Amino acid sequence: MNAELKREISKRRTFAIISHPDAGKTTLTEKFLLFGGAIQTAGAVKSNKIRKTATSDFMEIEKQRGISVATSVMGFEYAGKRINILDTPGHKDFAEDTYRTLTAVDSVILVVDCVKGVEEQTEKLMSVCRMRHTPVIIFINKMDREGKAPIELLDELEEKLQINTRPLSWPISQGQTFKGVYNLYTSALNLFEANSSRISETLVKIQSPQDPELEKWIPESFCKKLREDIALIEGVYEPFNEELYRDGLLAPVFFGSAINNFGVKELLETFLSIAPCPYERDARERTVFASEEAMSGFVFKIHANLDPNHRDRTAFFKICSGRFERNKFYYHTRLKKKIRFSSPTHFMANEKSIIDDAWPGDVIGLYDNGSLKIGDTLTEGEELQFRGIPSFSPEIFKLLENHDPMKTKQLDKGIRQLTEEGVAQLFVQHGNRKIVGTVGELQFDVIKFRLEHEYGALCAFTPLRYKKALWVTSDNKESLGEFLRRKSNLIVFDREDHPVFLAESEWMLKTAQEDYPDIEFHTTSEFK
Ligand code: GDP
Repeated sequence: MNAELKREISKRRTFAIISHPDAGKTTLTEKFLLFGGAIQTAGAVKSNKIRKTATSDFMEIEKQRGISVATSVMGFEYAGKRINILDTPGHKDFAEDTYRTLTAVDSVILVVDCVKGVEEQTEKLMSVCRMRHTPVIIFINKMDREGKAPIELLDELEEKLQINTRPLSWPISQGQTFKGVYNLYTSALNLFEANSSRISETLVKIQSPQDPELEKWIPESFCKKLREDIALIEGVYEPFNEELYRDGLLAPVFFGSAINNFGVKELLETFLSIAPCPYERDARERTVFASEEAMSGFVFKIHANLDPNHRDRTAFFKICSGRFERNKFYYHTRLKKKIRFSSPTHFMANEKSIIDDAWPGDVIGLYDNGSLKIGDTLTEGEELQFRGIPSFSPEIFKLLENHDPMKTKQLDKGIRQLTEEGVAQLFVQHGNRKIVGTVGELQFDVIKFRLEHEYGALCAFTPLRYKKALWVTSDNKESLGEFLRRKSNLIVFDREDHPVFLAESEWMLKTAQEDYPDIEFHTTSEFK
């Protein structure tokens, strides 16, 4: 293998920090960037939360779009490694965007609030990671607050997230009396100090939990409890198995307090030593290895029209193999044509800069005039289509109605471009009835606002009763044809013209499944 390629791959760690809103994702991201020297002051990373404020939600959404471009990818160097953090929107209405971003990472760090435990968004995000066998490290945050007991939290993680856990650090008390954590991996004692600006941690090397040195640093009653806890943990858990972690079957757990920069360095360094560098990825045709010399990658996100005066679109492109070069022609496998990029950009914390080359694991911004869609693959000529960027069933469906017949063209173009950007999914029925599906109500406000401001088109949405979209296939062409005919009022077509069945209830879906045993119903668009 090309030595340079090998070196660049082994240097890279591409991951996402995910959490239920308010668990501490932004705070932790910021601390990581401080360690990497990518930012100098706390507060530099803007939270990408949409806050309900007195000002219009639309303005918040617009601000949010600006912020999320700046923080979509944060790249920095630390300890000789190139780290790429991909940001995910916190708001649940933007869950689709988060799911897609998760298709572009090699591992994740999941932040859990010790007071709240596993929350709804945590469970959903984790189910996407499980589907893809993404390696997960869990950081239990806010140990400076009185929260749930650590053992209780571990049980909750295992039960609700359906993953085996293995604590690698253990807290000594919590809340007011929080003393620090004992690192079970390196046998070091990390003493807690409430201070958000420091970078160093006070580490004391201990031989074992029995070491009398321990009493010098923490009160006796806490030592006793710690020894009991460790005995219990070592009795219950197998030693940490890195292979199981990398297969996405075991999640190591750390405890700390992001705001106090406590346990963060420990987390970052363990992450760097165990998290995988870019690895292989499945395309429809074959598995592609990061170490292959020919460049390949896919688009997982598109940002459009940030400046309404310029129809600019940035496609976020994840490199899967080989070396990406500026100005080189690449093969667009969906359009079957060659295109090149004269100003690809890297994202470095708050700045964008034009780059000459990039490597597997990197995410670069490609300026696009409309030829790239989410899920598109670029190669050096091979016919490949990367998998793993499916559409998931929306939860809310509405009929799109045109309110200005003079602007039909603008509306059509606008809705097509916004759905290509992944804001929502568009389904077409009976020729031209357009049904928009989303995960959250907020999306409809976003679409309406953007259609008006960016495309000059006025629209309204009428709620529909559907609850779920199911992609349908069958080995039996006749049965499929009959099903599509008989259920034609419930059949729509996605952007690739695949038939989709809209169900109004679980019961309706069950009945259809029973009535049509030859038909397969898929909950995501990727089923081949
Ligand atoms: P996000 O929504 O997950 O990005 O959460 P943020 O990073 O914005 O944090 C949410 C709130 O929790 C903020 O007010 C933080 O200051 C606070 N926070 C973050 N980490 C800690 C911590 O370790 N201890 C305490 N007490 N508060 C924290």
